[in-house]
Amino acid sequence: MTIKYNNLAASHESFLPLFFKDVQKLFSECDFIGASSKAVANFEKEFAKYIGTEYALGVASGTDALLLAFDAIGISSGDEVIMPAFGFIATADVVVRLGGKPVFVDIDPETCNIDVKQIEGRITARTKAIAPVHLFGQSCDMQPILDIAEKHSTLNHKIWIVEDVAQSCGTYASLKNGKKCGAVGDFGCFSFYPTKNLGAAGDAGAITCNSPEMAEKIRKYRDHGRNTIGDYEIVGYNSRLDTIQAYYLSRKLEELDENLLDRIANARLYGELLSGLDNIRTPEVPDEEDNMPTNTFNYYTIRVSRRDNRDRLRNWLKEKNIETCIYYPISMHMTSALKPLGYDKGDFKEAEKAATEVLSLPVWPGLLRNDIQAVCKAIKEFINNSSSTKY
Ligand SMILES: *Cc1c(COP(=O)(O)O)cnc(C)c1O
Repeated sequence: MTIKYNNLAASHESFLPLFFKDVQKLFSECDFIGASSKAVANFEKEFAKYIGTEYALGVASGTDALLLAFDAIGISSGDEVIMPAFGFIATADVVVRLGGKPVFVDIDPETCNIDVKQIEGRITARTKAIAPVHLFGQSCDMQPILDIAEKHSTLNHKIWIVEDVAQSCGTYASLKNGKKCGAVGDFGCFSFYPTKNLGAAGDAGAITCNSPEMAEKIRKYRDHGRNTIGDYEIVGYNSRLDTIQAYYLSRKLEELDENLLDRIANARLYGELLSGLDNIRTPEVPDEEDNMPTNTFNYYTIRVSRRDNRDRLRNWLKEKNIETCIYYPISMHMTSALKPLGYDKGDFKEAEKAATEVLSLPVWPGLLRNDIQAVCKAIKEFINNSSSTKY
């Protein structure tokens, strides 16, 4: 039996009959597209409440959430956006698309999130935004980011905070005020890609914010800049959330907290079983009593020192029918697409090292304890079977 890296069928098993009823209604009403759909408006209301913001606006994907948010704050030619060097390319490529410039910062090796100590040194007169990415389900250290943005903002030049919450839906911010990720900065950009914490049945995303002006702007952007009287006020996009996705997401949102607790419990079990192993580093797991967890483990990512060990371990697990993934094998600044930014090998040592050491293990809600035990047993066998010279 294969231990799967993801199990999407398990993620909707419990609510599928209810969702099919929704779909039946949808196919009789046929309001398929987000702009006028009640189901989309309902989901947006529920999602804003869940995250703790005034507004949530459904869009077509997490990438579009970032694109529209960066466009809304006016990122254009030469504007700089500070972000981590290690992560998914979407955070950077949308900035490039708008003519802006991603300015990378190395990561904190403990969390793989942006190293907040290195942000201030990257601020220039062109800095328009900081984009913390809450990677793998774990909140960035938000207080220093808020402080730096405030310190360097002036009356005529605001430094915006655009949170990339694609992997951390439902995570509490690492901040003393009890807010969730996506409710801290000016914008929260969420992906509902099927494997994310709150996954849709296809592509979908959302933007959260508290500013009525920004919410209005994004509402127009996602629908070609159209206003309520049918004029096209600004040049916009076609990026609407489909009604069918809104129905699916509303059903899944009801189970999200339970699913996140399951992810955290799985991570805790991994942490216990893998503790003290040579050359394996496991992520920190929130305490069992912690009701505002700052990591919800969209990914359970261990570090295996040295690339050859990591790759051999991955193969070893594959032979035992255990699926794993590598997020990410190449740091963003080393990708071919972003070569024109002019970064080079050695510029971000921790990001480059992470790319050689990370290995993500199955952690989905509903994964059996037995399966986690089997994964850990296989990892231990690998370590025992590797001679000291090879490992
Ligand atoms: C998934 C993801 C995105 C993009 O979301 P899509 O819905 O796939 O467009 C952006 N940033 C991060 C960190 C992601 O993991």
